[in-house]
Amino acid sequence: MDVSDVPAVPEWLPAHLRDDGIESLYPPQAEAVEAGVTEGESLVASIPTASGKTLVAQLAMFAAVNRGGKALYIVPLRALASEKRDEFAAFEQYGLSVGVSTGNYDSDGEWLAEKDVIVATSEKVDSLVRNGAPWIDQLDCVVADEVHLVDDRNRGPTLEVTLAKLRGRNPDLQVVALSATIGNADELADWLDAALVDSTWRPIELRKGVHYGQALHFDDGTQEELRVKSSEKPTAAVVRDTLADDGSTLVFVNSRRNAEAAAARLATVTSRQLDGDEMAALADVAADIREVSDTETSDDLADAVEKGAAFHHAGLASEHRALVEDAFRDRLVKCVCATPTLAAGVNTPSRRVVVRDWRRYSGEAGGMEPLSVLEVHQMMGRAGRPGLDPYGEALLLASSHDELDELFERYVWADPEPVRSKLAAEPAMRTHLLATIASGFADSRETLVEFLQQTLYATQTHESGRLETVMDDMLDYLRVNDFVEETDSGRLKATGLGHTVSRLYLDPMSAATVIDGLRAADDPSALGLYHLVARTPDMYQLYLRSGEREEYTMEAYEREDELPGSAPSEFEESRFDDWLSALKTARLLEDWADETDEDRITDRYGVGPGDIRGKVDTAEWLLGAAESLAAELDLGSATAVREAKKRVEYGVREELIDLAGVRGVGRKRARRLFAAGIQTRSELRNAEKSVVLAALRGREKTAETVLENAGHQDPSMEGVTPDPDAAPDDVDDDTETDPQTGSEDDQSSLGDF
Ligand code: ADP
Repeated sequence: MDVSDVPAVPEWLPAHLRDDGIESLYPPQAEAVEAGVTEGESLVASIPTASGKTLVAQLAMFAAVNRGGKALYIVPLRALASEKRDEFAAFEQYGLSVGVSTGNYDSDGEWLAEKDVIVATSEKVDSLVRNGAPWIDQLDCVVADEVHLVDDRNRGPTLEVTLAKLRGRNPDLQVVALSATIGNADELADWLDAALVDSTWRPIELRKGVHYGQALHFDDGTQEELRVKSSEKPTAAVVRDTLADDGSTLVFVNSRRNAEAAAARLATVTSRQLDGDEMAALADVAADIREVSDTETSDDLADAVEKGAAFHHAGLASEHRALVEDAFRDRLVKCVCATPTLAAGVNTPSRRVVVRDWRRYSGEAGGMEPLSVLEVHQMMGRAGRPGLDPYGEALLLASSHDELDELFERYVWADPEPVRSKLAAEPAMRTHLLATIASGFADSRETLVEFLQQTLYATQTHESGRLETVMDDMLDYLRVNDFVEETDSGRLKATGLGHTVSRLYLDPMSAATVIDGLRAADDPSALGLYHLVARTPDMYQLYLRSGEREEYTMEAYEREDELPGSAPSEFEESRFDDWLSALKTARLLEDWADETDEDRITDRYGVGPGDIRGKVDTAEWLLGAAESLAAELDLGSATAVREAKKRVEYGVREELIDLAGVRGVGRKRARRLFAAGIQTRSELRNAEKSVVLAALRGREKTAETVLENAGHQDPSMEGVTPDPDAAPDDVDDDTETDPQTGSEDDQSSLGDF
């Protein structure tokens, strides 16, 4: 189908697409248009990665706006929201306005009412619905990107409920759900009353295979020699082999740290193949990267890029990511090492894809877990650049014959798992029932059942009565805990407390745990509060390793007075173990808030740096919620809670809270400034610049940024020399690990994906 034959889209669109090199639609796109996606029809499109889903979404949204309507694009990840916004911003020249909403859960987002296209995560949309954002009812078209994520244990139910609510409020709403290729796309289409485009068409042929020994074994039964030298790792051999044929490689690994380490190693392979022009061009890209920020990550990235390799993960600034993607597309960067998180959303095709790590650490499982077939296939789908490569090759790596067989079975031959609703899980049901009642969406058992009938869960479950049984249990729980009450006329409504809990986005059971604990302790210690939040179902606790049971049992008795509420008896084994796991988690948080080095913490608790960040983020959020609950219930502990929250947020002792709150400062720099005699934000604002520069180890740009953020009148460091008396005497590297400042500071060693 020629782009000018697409009905109902704005006049300017065909010419715009042609400028982008898109003359005619890909077959699945044409099918979507034939199914009426530009004429307001709902659609589920299950199409392989890199086969043009984004254009399907754009056609639907622009057609809706063309009819005077408003569209919402739901992204699966916060990091992708700004990327999508930038992508759509290219259409602002035609008068289209685009807004992105990712901020606080409880802001009402009124300013978004003006926009034609709004980009948001499902959590954000859910909270906008809960808080009654007025424009929600004006939507005409909703796109759900990566809708197969309804299967995700944690985030899936929110996406599912959000779509059900949006449709419940507006039965004429057009829903365009984009999915990777899955086995049961027809069930999704059933659920959403949508037409289905279920296609395996790809713009370029994909060969899947496994490297083992000295050969590539492909799914079509063929083999090709690929020698690994004795001094070489298999990934390096693949990158070298691809380069010999002037091709590029995308390597998927399982953590940010691994992505960075692999990029540094593979840079030694790519650097050997660069010509003079490429080196000059790469040096320019590296300089641009260094300009973006003054952090170690930025330096490491620039160092790798200079040599023709790069890493890519959600911890990079979006400018960094864009520079890497462009340089890869321009074929300057020959190898990118990435975590899978963004792989789905970022369009970086490559001759070869190597899925190096097919297991990933899972906090929930307490160990390594294999990736799903769906995830691996999505990564593999990035292989092959249409129009440039004859075909794409996607490889896994095996180190034994058994593993070769296993990988073929598990991933190469396997079909992706069917997508299944996770809504019936109790925490999800509790949370969403309360939200549904609190937002006035349902006010009786009947209307709740009616609402739940609109979920994927209802479409998929064939066990009659199961949904209602789970619902009734959860309703009782909400009543007993005073979150929901029945009015005289028998209507269900949320209590004041219930409204607060829903607004805070807490699992009601977490709220109940926190309230009990706060009532039991007047002046809780930081450890006590960390233990309290670690006991809630919203925190994944650390597992006890062998031998630790005794250690933490002793600790539990020693610090018994600090732990709010009464401990379960040692004879109630599973409850007692939970109590100890929460204590271990709380001890980790306490260490972090005591300025213990990250390396020591990872050693002591047997966790990865990403886990520290995960725990810290969750604790901060839960303590913020605890603070609101304490205020709502007029409990005396609100101040202690706030302080414990700040300490964990910044990873500092009490005396540094003020300083560490200055953007760009963080725990280590705060400690150094403090040691140099600068103890508060206002002292920093008026500080002697030579002292600040010395305390920050002579890093001029950092010092300027910090002073600027503190409100210093003249932050320029020009001509300032560090005061030798104020130089710190510790030998730590200058890596800041304040998890709150995102790309402000180096985050390379905190955070998993
Ligand atoms: P997906 O979201 O399905 O993974 P994308 O939407 O990112 O895939 O599309 C992959 C690439 O294909 C993009 O670079 C896009 O510009 C290009 N593309 C999409 N549709 C067409 C088309 N009809 N003709 C040529 N290129 C296209």
